[in-house]
Amino acid sequence: MTPLSPGSTIGILGGGQLGRMLAVAAAQLGYRCHIYAPNADSVAAEVSAAFTCAKDDDIDALSRFADSCDVITFEFENVPVDPLHRIAACAPLHPPIAALDIAQNRVAEKNFARDHGGTTAPFAEVTDRAALDKAIAEIGAPAILKTIRMGYDGKGQSRIQPGDDLDTHWQAVAQKPCVAEGFVTFDHEFSVILVRGRDGEIRFWDTPHNVHEDGILAVSTAPAPRAILAQQDAARSLAARMAEAMGYVGVLTCEFFATAEGPVFNEMAPRVHNSGHWTIEGAVTSQFENHIRAICGLPLGDTGLAAKRVEMHNLIGAQADAWQALLADGANHLHLYGKGETRPGRKMGHVTKLHF
Ligand code: AMP
Repeated sequence: MTPLSPGSTIGILGGGQLGRMLAVAAAQLGYRCHIYAPNADSVAAEVSAAFTCAKDDDIDALSRFADSCDVITFEFENVPVDPLHRIAACAPLHPPIAALDIAQNRVAEKNFARDHGGTTAPFAEVTDRAALDKAIAEIGAPAILKTIRMGYDGKGQSRIQPGDDLDTHWQAVAQKPCVAEGFVTFDHEFSVILVRGRDGEIRFWDTPHNVHEDGILAVSTAPAPRAILAQQDAARSLAARMAEAMGYVGVLTCEFFATAEGPVFNEMAPRVHNSGHWTIEGAVTSQFENHIRAICGLPLGDTGLAAKRVEMHNLIGAQADAWQALLADGANHLHLYGKGETRPGRKMGHVTKLHF
């Protein structure tokens, strides 16, 4: 298997902060990045060699982009899949399209996890208003209604309490096809972050303990508390089985709830993930570098912890305005994504601290 030589061009579909951090890691290894994104204000394009600003389904633009790349990856899982099949002959695409197909559909994703031995929250597909009544009668409340497609960071979700008027919830998700999920009583949330090379080798980072606020990740810490570590093996082996079944190459993240009955699979991200940002300084090799190594066919780097304990805090909205105060602590590693406009709920940056 010939590795891709430094100087080659890596195409990245999507232009946000994940693409930006991938491009920085790729540049360090001597690669050029070409960003493809629909918005002109791409924070990934700012640090990359080339930029195509075009719609996700513009086949001509996509084909020209693919012809200019030696390998293509993505930093955003909601890119339409059909156009990708049409450019597949131009350059290899990692992770595989199959991973996008599964991750874009919450029902397919949960069934895939169950098929590989995982436990999920009880769920029912809701395609119309009558199906919502039936689903809640079956699952009970509290429950969460989530759009099957295009939901992230708590968007496209509505939390149902016992006795609620279901019409309101059906309007809240814009009457889109949904999955109704039983509310999981969990002790903690955590994610398994793995990288799989082109030769099938799998490495895991330390498991981060994740705390969400308003459906958005707020803090990740590694190593995780003992209660999570007790569930790590089961969660890791599920994630590895899923990666193998997809013929996966690159970084894969699976999010779990740690419950009294063991790990409950929530969702997967076929890409580098916010709960792995701490690996930039907190691991010997970051998730971004190992993703680039994997898709380019290079040997994978050591995923071990670089400190006794690592914590990462997201800077959401106006929290990033505190950048001067954050820099006053010389041990803080500050990352700002260069986004022009601060909006509530928008991920503007993160800060990582290592404890020795
Ligand atoms: P998601 O978009 O599925 O990642 O959900 C965002 C966050 O909402 C999760 O990280 C949890 O904190 C919470 N959440 C989602 N689904 C459930 C569930 N079935 N039971 C309890 N909490 C949930």
